[in-house]
Amino acid sequence: MKAMVLRRVVNLADNRAPLELVELPIPEPGDWEILIRVSVCGVCHTELDEIEGRTPPSRFPMILGHQIVGRVEQAGRNASRFRPGDRVGMGWINHACGRCHLCRAGKENLCPDFQATGRDASGGYAQYTTVSQDFAYGIPEVFTDEEAAPLLCAGAIGYRSLRLTGLRDGETLGLVGFGASAHLVLKMVRHLFPRSRIFAFSRTPAERDFARELGAAWAGGFEEEPPAKMHRAIDTTPAWQPIVAALLHLEPGGRLVINAIRKEERDKEALLGLDYPRHLWLEKEIKSVANVSRRDVAEFLELAAQMPIKPEYQVYRLEEANQALVELKERKIRGAKVLRVD
Ligand SMILES: [Zn+2]
Ligand SMILES: [Zn+2]
Repeated sequence: MKAMVLRRVVNLADNRAPLELVELPIPEPGDWEILIRVSVCGVCHTELDEIEGRTPPSRFPMILGHQIVGRVEQAGRNASRFRPGDRVGMGWINHACGRCHLCRAGKENLCPDFQATGRDASGGYAQYTTVSQDFAYGIPEVFTDEEAAPLLCAGAIGYRSLRLTGLRDGETLGLVGFGASAHLVLKMVRHLFPRSRIFAFSRTPAERDFARELGAAWAGGFEEEPPAKMHRAIDTTPAWQPIVAALLHLEPGGRLVINAIRKEERDKEALLGLDYPRHLWLEKEIKSVANVSRRDVAEFLELAAQMPIKPEYQVYRLEEANQALVELKERKIRGAKVLRVD
């Protein structure tokens, strides 16, 4: 099978082709696993963190990619949940122990044995992949493969982030950064909380226009002042300055949820601009969001199918994965990026 593999951590500024196209044997599914013939795999910002070593793969070479849609090609001896030909998806959560106190409390996303697809186990930048049947999802009919892929991470983590904000209808929400996840959150909020106004912050005019097109009440740069204070905000940027700016515009008692697996070091000195009375006092809260649970993915897929929420996307071929990643790094974004694997 064809696969795009990462052999070592690299800096994308020096190496614009970190993934190598190789030919590999088709993997065999274990007893409780299914073999998936991949159709589409979404490209996520987390791949940049894996490539550049902020959350490096646990072994090399690694096949990245954790927003996978395809069809069951073969089921392992004991795997009866899906049948060959069924359309299934895989997300970021590839394994959790199921026994620790966090797993038992429904917080498998925080499990110490958490393993991620495309970082700790082979992902979807390939023609085939395997996964435990318990960590795969049926894909609702209403979506095409391309539409479904970004829902599996960008959508599911956006759903978890939104849940963690505690937003209530009528409260204002700030979206700090406006990429694949934020644009899906905007669509969700317009459906679930129709009276809430959304303020979108982005570095690029194209993303700000995109946010307005999708119904944001206001869009501006990180240094601009929104028309009202924000009750809740979700940060999806890799940087620190947008967080400091968002805290300044938070309502008393407001909450900022940081949806980023890692932050880059480049502008860390922006944190020195934190002024306790202006940015943190009056019971402002900061909370991070870590991984997703299977419940997040399954609930979100159901919600997305009801609405229905259809992501905007750009298609690349598997062999063009490097180009898609570089464009993501350079913020050439409109919605989500997906790889078509044929
Ligand atoms: Zn992701
Ligand atoms: Zn566990």
